[in-house]
Amino acid sequence: MVDWNDQLPEVRGRYIPGARLAEHTWFRVGGPAEVLYRPEDENDLAHFLSNKPQGVPIAIIGAGSNVLIHDGGVKGVVIRLGRGFSSIRIEEEHLHVGAAALDRTVSLTCRDAGLGGFEFLVGIPGTIGGAIRMNAGAYGAEIKDVLVYANVLDLEGKHHRLTVNDLAMSYRHSSLPEGWIVTSAVLKGVPSQDPHTIGTKIENILKERESTQPIRGRTGGSTFKNPLQEKAWKLIDDAGCRGLKKGDAQVSEKHCNFLLNLDQATAFDLESLGEEVRRRVYESSGISLEWEIIKMGYENNS
Ligand SMILES: Cc1cc2nc3c(=O)[nH]c(=O)nc-3n(C[C@H](O)[C@H](O)[C@H](O)COP(=O)(O)OP(=O)(O)OC[C@H]3O[C@@H](n4cnc5c(N)ncnc54)[C@H](O)[C@@H]3O)c2cc1C
Repeated sequence: MVDWNDQLPEVRGRYIPGARLAEHTWFRVGGPAEVLYRPEDENDLAHFLSNKPQGVPIAIIGAGSNVLIHDGGVKGVVIRLGRGFSSIRIEEEHLHVGAAALDRTVSLTCRDAGLGGFEFLVGIPGTIGGAIRMNAGAYGAEIKDVLVYANVLDLEGKHHRLTVNDLAMSYRHSSLPEGWIVTSAVLKGVPSQDPHTIGTKIENILKERESTQPIRGRTGGSTFKNPLQEKAWKLIDDAGCRGLKKGDAQVSEKHCNFLLNLDQATAFDLESLGEEVRRRVYESSGISLEWEIIKMGYENNS
């Protein structure tokens, strides 16, 4: 038992000591959280943040679709937002959305309401909070194109309303400070669109994804950012890494910027495979790939 554990403030949400994080990530790897906290709602979360013991590390995960949790687990309190953060409300061109709402649900809800501009979100398997932190995007659109502002709590539980400029959003990047938590956001779409037309765009995106990405595998999506003027998958392919394996970790045959946990891979296997890919790409092209996947936690406790 860690010494701050019995000093955690009383909350309406749930504390889960030693929670397995692997089951909250797409890769299905990684050690436990010292404590997983599931806040009930924004007030509960703000109360936790302003009353937490000094020095306790805080981390946040969304749907776990772009994270690699190390095998040694994550120290401190890992926060995962749930139902109290997943509301979706449309008012004319504005979408008021909780940070735990899934991108796909948002896209389909907007389709039904005839609100265009959110089609690109349909194939991104994360939450709105994760999408803002990562400036997620696909098919020529990014969350920064539709974000009006995000409601954010800082490490002391103070509320901030941050715009695209405040967040300095660019390709798969935002300047959201470490540990700050997006709780909800206002996005802007194009109202009065034909749901059928939006639906057709969505179907096309889904078909394209199915044929080009291993979307049913245990993966973390794009492993590396595309370097300026280059495609990471092409550099990886050219370096001869398609299908490369380490233990049960593999570079996808279908889309070689995706790593796969075939069954029993560890975070160590996946990270070492990624580093081997970086080494080979550097050797063959002189380009140093940058990880897009966020690595969390400490490497091993053994
Ligand atoms: C099959 C597959 C396909 C994918 N395709 C795409 C794609 O086309 N385009 C794309 O951009 N990405 C894609 N991804 C990657 C991923 O889905 C996105 O990055 C997504 O936005 C991550 O959201 P998440 O909720 O899963 O965040 P997580 O993976 O849980 O976390 C990612 C980062 O966001 C932070 N975070 C999460 N929630 C919050 C919050 N509420 N407040 C503050 N920080 C938060 C975490 O701390 C972490 O740093 C894909 C992934 C998979 C597995």
